[in-house]
Amino acid sequence: MTSIQGFSGLELPELILRAGADPIRIEASTADIDPCTGERFADIPAASPADVDAVVEAAHRAFRNPAWRDLHPLARERLLHRFADAIEADLPRIAALEALDTGKPISIVETLDIPTAISWLRAYAGWPGKLAGRAAPLSATPGAFHAYSRREPIGVVAAITPWNFPLVLAMWKIAPALAAGCTIVLKPAPETPLSALRLVELARAAGLPDGVLSVVTGDGATGAALAAHPRIAKVAFTGSTATGQAILAASVPSLKRVTLELGGKSPTILCKDADLATAIPQAAMGCFFNSGQICYAGTRLYVHRSIYDEVLDGIRTVGAAQRIGPSADRTSQLGPLISARQHEKVSGFVQRASDAGITALPAGGPIPDAGYYFAPTLLRDVPSDAEVMREEVFGPVLATAPFDEIEEAIALANDSAYGLAAHVFTRDLTTAHKASAALEAGTVFVNCILLADPAFPFGGMKMSGIGRENGSEVLDAYLEPKSVVMAL
Ligand code: NAD
Ligand code: MN
Repeated sequence: MTSIQGFSGLELPELILRAGADPIRIEASTADIDPCTGERFADIPAASPADVDAVVEAAHRAFRNPAWRDLHPLARERLLHRFADAIEADLPRIAALEALDTGKPISIVETLDIPTAISWLRAYAGWPGKLAGRAAPLSATPGAFHAYSRREPIGVVAAITPWNFPLVLAMWKIAPALAAGCTIVLKPAPETPLSALRLVELARAAGLPDGVLSVVTGDGATGAALAAHPRIAKVAFTGSTATGQAILAASVPSLKRVTLELGGKSPTILCKDADLATAIPQAAMGCFFNSGQICYAGTRLYVHRSIYDEVLDGIRTVGAAQRIGPSADRTSQLGPLISARQHEKVSGFVQRASDAGITALPAGGPIPDAGYYFAPTLLRDVPSDAEVMREEVFGPVLATAPFDEIEEAIALANDSAYGLAAHVFTRDLTTAHKASAALEAGTVFVNCILLADPAFPFGGMKMSGIGRENGSEVLDAYLEPKSVVMAL
């Protein structure tokens, strides 16, 4: 039992990695630091390439194990629901671990992060019996052949995930991979390994065979060893564009399948006919929620010139109403940034914007003295070539500019290397549909923000990624089609 400030009595998961049933000995470690205090509370094992190899080989054995491979679809579905039941029963503990690790407000982790992860597992639990191939008459030689296709699990999957939504983004990969019949090795971010370690304990308790879901902890070197391992058939990655590029390069020697969900600089267009009572709070929280640490946050706000000042005032009011505080405090609504490094990075962006003559306005606070807190900040009249208009800040910093015509706003919105999400606030249906078609983004939100659902695909155009997660589309990433052709 560890006594951790704010979470007294919270029991950490076993900080042990396993190759199938066997614990593996690991010499190196990384520090896990509470973002609310800056204090180290645990040492997390850092897996070497040899440790990674042992875990991947165990995952490969598990992939061939009839207890997993030959599980009939309904048995697989039931097993995934039992896994979801186990997480549900563990909700207070896994939520506390996630809140401690990320610094997010506990009330948000309990009501959003963990339930979201569970709902993804249940949504994909419904798929195993529905992953059918097809039979079709051949055009070339009618009547001479019977041909059909099968959809087979691709093999051992590596999931490499970031620290902003650790359990949710892991489950976006685990749920479809398991539904497809793959086995999976998850490497969480070194800042936030606890929910992943707890998750494998729950998977074992729910009866998933050894090696079907494993975790290796460590930093980028551990991730690189996993991403390059020849036994890995597919890598599912969420994180920075630079690391995504390194993972894609590492996939080349063994031609791994890769999906990348990367950064963004998602625009929000706020038209003069928008319902400001709902548009203003959403434009604010679309950037400030989770202290801006969201890949598809709306971080560039274009507002019709006639309402620019009114909207900016409104956003500052919304930001100021957010209570910023530690994760264990049930009244907190915004937490700190994840690390000293992220705090430096975000501060640097705002400092350089100010140095360049851009007006920075406070849009929230006060913030606690200790920890890596950063108050919501609004930047006004930001030129389109400014660094803060082009680069992902990953903090609660909203860059804004006025526009006159919708065509101009769409051109500004599309003037980005990224293409993850885009938002339009308008009550005009024509504007909504025309903008939705014209915006270069994987998801367009009309009069709403921050919605992901297992029902529809999520991912990026341009430098925001390759492939899609969620929807039925994600299953293609974990299945290999095979055609069977038989002479009659
Ligand atoms: P990162 O992309 O480097 O880390 C994400 C994951 O990749 C972690 O698990 C990390 O250990 C692993 N990793 C790092 N290098 C690797 C490599 N060469 N091969 C395989 N795995 C590797 O992100 P970061 O350094 O934690 O954050 C940097 C920036 O990335 C942030 O400031 C933010 O702009 C962006 N970011 C984006 C997202 C997102 O959801 N799109 C999430 C987190 C961070
Ligand atoms: Mn942590």
